[in-house]
Amino acid sequence: MAEKTALLPILNRAPAADFQGTLRQHGLGELRRREVTTLQINVGKLCNQACHHCHVEAGPKRTEIMPAKVAERLMTLLAATPSIHTVDITGGAPELNANFRTLVSESRRMGKHVIDRCNLTVLFEPGQEMLAEFLAENQVEITASLPCYTESNVDQQRGKGAFEKSIRALGVLNAIGYGRGTGLTLNLVYNPLGASLPPPQQKLEDDYKTQLRENFAIEFDRLFTITNMPIKRFAEFLVREGKHEAYMALLTNHFNPATVDGLMCRDLVSIGWDGRIYDCDFNQMLDLETPSGKTIWEIESFAELEEKSIATDGHCFGCTAGAGSSCGGSLQ
Ligand code: SF4
Ligand code: SF4
Repeated sequence: MAEKTALLPILNRAPAADFQGTLRQHGLGELRRREVTTLQINVGKLCNQACHHCHVEAGPKRTEIMPAKVAERLMTLLAATPSIHTVDITGGAPELNANFRTLVSESRRMGKHVIDRCNLTVLFEPGQEMLAEFLAENQVEITASLPCYTESNVDQQRGKGAFEKSIRALGVLNAIGYGRGTGLTLNLVYNPLGASLPPPQQKLEDDYKTQLRENFAIEFDRLFTITNMPIKRFAEFLVREGKHEAYMALLTNHFNPATVDGLMCRDLVSIGWDGRIYDCDFNQMLDLETPSGKTIWEIESFAELEEKSIATDGHCFGCTAGAGSSCGGSLQ
């Protein structure tokens, strides 16, 4: 698929839905970071897939890849920030980055919990033959995208053959103990195919468990439902379908003030492949840097970002609609 659709205006930003104004209307102050407990590292846009909804616009031809000097600096800052207990590695397909295994091993050596945001099909890429074993040896939690339990829906969103490969990959992970109560955690991620909010997470998790167990003998731990953010490829899809305004109205009309306390940006920092600092992965994809504008070369610890303001815009309504949304699923 072409990275940009020439016929469409390129929507890098959601329209001017006033997120800060909405917070004020509900008696809530501007968003500020609390103690930093999660370091989310986006190692770049290289991916073996090019999914229609991808907010990263990742793909096999992308060249934005985290170099070793950035990965090394991140490990120095991690060591200097004891409040961080979780390192969450994403991409693209993070496993394709040459520094991925060092980031995992070093973080584990420091006693941190590590999450790999895995697209599953990467397990069958050349050079990744021992990936599953590496992840298991390092007790890495796997959070894997599987936007439906039916082949047609998954292939529609992620490309032909993606479902069959994903099921095969889940079988490989189950076989070495993932998702089977052995302490190796395997979570799945659902996002809607179209312009709607996700259904209730627990009910959908029950459906996934039944369907995947009965049809494919697949087991997993938790299902996370995630709202599609109105940015990048998904925004282009909305415009193409004439649904962009209606989707933004859906998000803003379902603003739920009870989700604000748990927004993921309040406890994490997000790092881009080039070492720039963001408040979350979505802001990263919009080039919306954290208000201080600092990079990893200008701080000595991530604790320096505590109490600091968080950059917000209209897309933030994607995190506060309905039950709320984060990289760890719904917020309520
Ligand atoms: S697998 Fe993930 S990172 Fe890769 S293109 Fe699909 S959504 Fe984007
Ligand atoms: S997109 Fe969500 S996580 Fe990111 S800054 Fe906005 S509310 Fe926070």
